[in-house]
Formats: sequence, C-alpha cells, structure tokens
Amino acid sequence: MRASTNKCGSHAPHMAAEWKNGNCSAWAARDPSGVLSPYKFNRRAVRSSDVSLKITHCGVCYADVIWTQNKFNDSQYPLVPGHEISGVVTEVGSDVKGFKVGDHVGVGTYVNSCRDCENCNSYLEQYCPQRVGTFNRVDTDGTVTKGGYSTHIVVHERYCFKIPDGYPLAKAAPLLCAGITVYTPMVRHNMNQEPGKSLGVIGLGGLGHMAVKFGKAFGLKVTVFSTSESKRDEAINLLGADNFVISSDTQQMESLKNSLHFIVDTASGDHPFDPYLSLLKVGGVMAMVCFPPSGIKVHPASLNIGARTLSGSGVGGTKDIQEMVSFCAANKIYPEIEIIKIDYINEALARLVNRDVKYRFVIDIENSFK
Ligand SMILES: [Zn+2]
Ligand SMILES: [Zn+2]
Repeated sequence: MRASTNKCGSHAPHMAAEWKNGNCSAWAARDPSGVLSPYKFNRRAVRSSDVSLKITHCGVCYADVIWTQNKFNDSQYPLVPGHEISGVVTEVGSDVKGFKVGDHVGVGTYVNSCRDCENCNSYLEQYCPQRVGTFNRVDTDGTVTKGGYSTHIVVHERYCFKIPDGYPLAKAAPLLCAGITVYTPMVRHNMNQEPGKSLGVIGLGGLGHMAVKFGKAFGLKVTVFSTSESKRDEAINLLGADNFVISSDTQQMESLKNSLHFIVDTASGDHPFDPYLSLLKVGGVMAMVCFPPSGIKVHPASLNIGARTLSGSGVGGTKDIQEMVSFCAANKIYPEIEIIKIDYINEALARLVNRDVKYRFVIDIENSFK
C-alpha cells in the first residue's frame, strides 16, 4: 500500500536530524495522517530575478487538506502546505525590477512556469505545462516546493505581487487563491462590465464569500444559494447579498427560473447542475470553480434550450492576480478571516473539513515562530 510506504519513510533516522536544521522554520505533515508539526528546511539563496520575503501570514485552503492527507496519492513528505502567502520583501536579486526591500507582497498557488509558452506569453501561467505549484511540486532545480506554513519564501519576481500599502497583510493572504479563483472567471465573462445584472453564487465558503463581495463591487444584484439556513443573516447583513435561497427549497428555486445573468458555482460537494442552469436567462453563463468529487452531469437541454454556457476556470494568471489585488485595495474589498497561530493548525484543518470557518483561516506566521 502506498500510504504505509510513505509512513515508513518519514521515520528513517536521517529525518530526525533534518527537521532541526535549515534556514527556514515551518510546520510539515510527515505522513497521510496529515498531522502537522514543527520542521526545518533550507530555502535557496536569492538568484538574480528572485525576491525573498518574510512571510507574515498564510491562508488555509482546502488544498492544504488534500495534500497533507495524500488524497491524490502524490504527496511527498515532509510536506509544507500553504499557497495564500503575504509578507514583506527582505532581499531582491540584481535583476529584479518590480520590488524593493520593505514592499508588501503576496505569493499564490504557483511559483514557477516556463515563461516561454503560448499560455505564459498570454499571462495564463496557471495553465503552463511546466507550471510549478507552491508546494509538493518538483521545481526546475529538482527540489520539492514547500509552501507558506513557513517563515520565508524565495520566488522569481514574476510570481510575486505587490500588495498596496494600507491593505492589511492578514486580509491579503486569502486573495492569492480564494480571491483570484473567483475573480478570474467573473472578469472573463464580463460580470464587471454590466452593473445592474444579476448574479447567483452557489456555496458560501472561502471562495463563495469572495464571489459575493466581487459581485457587489461590480454592481450586480447577488443571490446566494446555500444548503444552510444558518448562513442567511451573514450573507445579507455581513456580505451584502441581496437575496438568500435555500437550494433544497424547490418552490423558491422554481420562482427564480430564467432570472439570472450569471452564476458562480463554488459548492465543494456533489450537487446537481440542471436546477441551477435552469435559473439562467437566455445566453446566461454558469462559471464553475468547483471540483465535485463524482463529476458533473448536465442534461443537454439545460444548455441548448437557452443558449447557456457552463464554463470552467482555475486560479488566475499573474496579470489578473495583480489586477485583482489592486482592485481589492482600491475598492476596500476584504476577505472575512479568522486569525490563528500555527499551533492551532491541526484543529483548524479539522474545522475546515467540517466547513466550520468564517470564512477563511489565516495563520499569523510572524507571531507563531517567535
Ligand atoms: Zn487554494
Ligand atoms: Zn509556460
């Protein structure tokens, strides 16, 4: 069994020495139990185009659960998760143009790409065949990337983003995955060009609550679809949604048929698609950013009769990330977060699995490693 092989490896004698040495302090999972504990390793020295940042905060994304627990059978332990990183620049390479020491910056879900393919040249680096994820991926120098549950990170400046002064670094962290994941398809489908139009948001977690905030900032009339009545008050009064619908309420769903211009689907679990597609007007767009475990099933009529579009999207390119961060700063859009210390991370991940978070955990890295 693969899981037991991984478990054995993490207890080899040389590991004991390894976790105490290195220029970077972190918390890592050692095996598919996913339990994190203190760990040390070495980050590379700054190269000519690199930026080094002291990490102050790191958001907690469901991806951290997936890979610390080896759910895709490709986890390489010890594994340091975290890809919603914010911090302060401490060193820049000789060729770095965009950043200087002291700048507030963020790093998202990838830290490298070929910078020469069709996708990279179109600032769609997230779809580069050689894209390197921020953790648990082999970088071009052969090292396995380690994420933001750590005290510093070194990245090529292309994968680093300026966080405007005055924007709280704790709140900036979730923009780098949750924020960009919903922002990119919303802009691609012109949801920011047509104030007054109507948007449905399915699911109200880390991604969904940002889709509501962007929707309101774009001037849309926002309806939240949720399975839980308990989220109604916050959806309306905290996040500013105009309407809240329990998705199992067939009467309410029926009354909304052919009424929405757009839907952003962030629901994490398995769910039907036809009932939502039927809510779209002619030509409406349902932008999917979710990964329902059992896949998706759609009746052709749900799309054909009404010329509707069901589209997919994954995070965002570097240009879009910078645009989104700047947009959030200019429009005072802030994720709702619960700040934790790193020694609470195992409880936090368990709560995330149970969807018991409002709406994103952010680790206060700076004050966790003193
Ligand atoms: Zn993520
Ligand atoms: Zn590329």
